[in-house]
Amino acid sequence: MQENNTQGTDISTLGEFGLIKHLSKNVKLTQASTLKGIGDDAAVLNQSGKKTVVTTDLLVEGIHFDLMYTPLRHLGYKAIVVNVSDVYAMNAEPKQVTVSIAISKRFTLEAIDEIYEGINMACEKYNVDLVGGDTTSSLTGLCISVTAIGEADEDKITYRSGAQVNDLICVTGDLGAAYAGLQLLDREKRIFENNPEIQPDLTGHDYILERQLKPEARKDIFESLQDAKIVPTSMIDISDGLSSELFHICEESNVGCQIYEEKIPIDYETHKMAEELNMNYSIFALNGGEDYELLFTVPLDKFEKIEKIPDVKVIGHICDASKGKYMVARDNTEIALQAQGWTNFTE
Ligand code: ADP
Ligand code: MG
Repeated sequence: MQENNTQGTDISTLGEFGLIKHLSKNVKLTQASTLKGIGDDAAVLNQSGKKTVVTTDLLVEGIHFDLMYTPLRHLGYKAIVVNVSDVYAMNAEPKQVTVSIAISKRFTLEAIDEIYEGINMACEKYNVDLVGGDTTSSLTGLCISVTAIGEADEDKITYRSGAQVNDLICVTGDLGAAYAGLQLLDREKRIFENNPEIQPDLTGHDYILERQLKPEARKDIFESLQDAKIVPTSMIDISDGLSSELFHICEESNVGCQIYEEKIPIDYETHKMAEELNMNYSIFALNGGEDYELLFTVPLDKFEKIEKIPDVKVIGHICDASKGKYMVARDNTEIALQAQGWTNFTE
């Protein structure tokens, strides 16, 4: 656990322009569509012939992250990842990002540098150019807002609204691990606050911690779908838990769904954490958040192709809206899914 760094270079020694110059000196531009990046009143892009997708996420200290246990480098990385994830969820390719930050005096130049190290690392990994942003002070706390810009052929863009009856429901990776990681960090934080002598015990939980602190977006799946020439009928990224994302797809597509509890992919460490906390691991997957996996639907005849893509699981199918949205539990009972959260687990 860490207290905020109180030693280091005061940002006011650079001034706003000095800071922007400092932050942008390591920025490399690699996208052909970036004509002008940082340094003018606006960036200039040249997206020839494709459609543009734009998405923004705002991360606020104390609401979306806790600096007691979030390393600043990871925070910068995650701020980019959550945005490119939204672009992939449109079946589009992220190309540029802008980053806006509001910082209080509590943050030193070294602290801001760490955030940007993470930002630059993610930009490199996901092959996006940092082309602009805004910098301002805040009275308390830290806010980071990222906008991602991507492109896609018009006929490839995948909305939440295209799911058809009998389509297969697919998810990538495993679910609930980021939530399990958050539960662990919150528990250890409480212990630390009650007794700072006790150092947190995080051993054996590497995977769930990484899922919470350093999530990745599914660039690989976007590419695999392209290689397999599959355009999903609908798609969404899983940021708020499987249940509410399924709800979004069903509501937007005007259909119902049936999924199977036993088919939901859950990692062993997530199981273990849920057990330690006396909670049900399926609830971590259904109601947890921040997995940044992809949830999508494909026509039934794509089953063989989908099966060949590593890390994609079929967990159910789309049905008529009149059937509702439900999960077949391990004991074969049918449980209604909820938009936010999900109750009646034992019913
Ligand atoms: P303006 O007064 O027009 O808002 P700024 O002085 O805020 O211009 O920004 C100058 C340049 O630096 C612009 O290209 C802007 O996009 C970029 N920029 C400002 N803040 C950031 C930041 N935090 N990260 C990346 N680029 C930034
Ligand atoms: Mg500005």
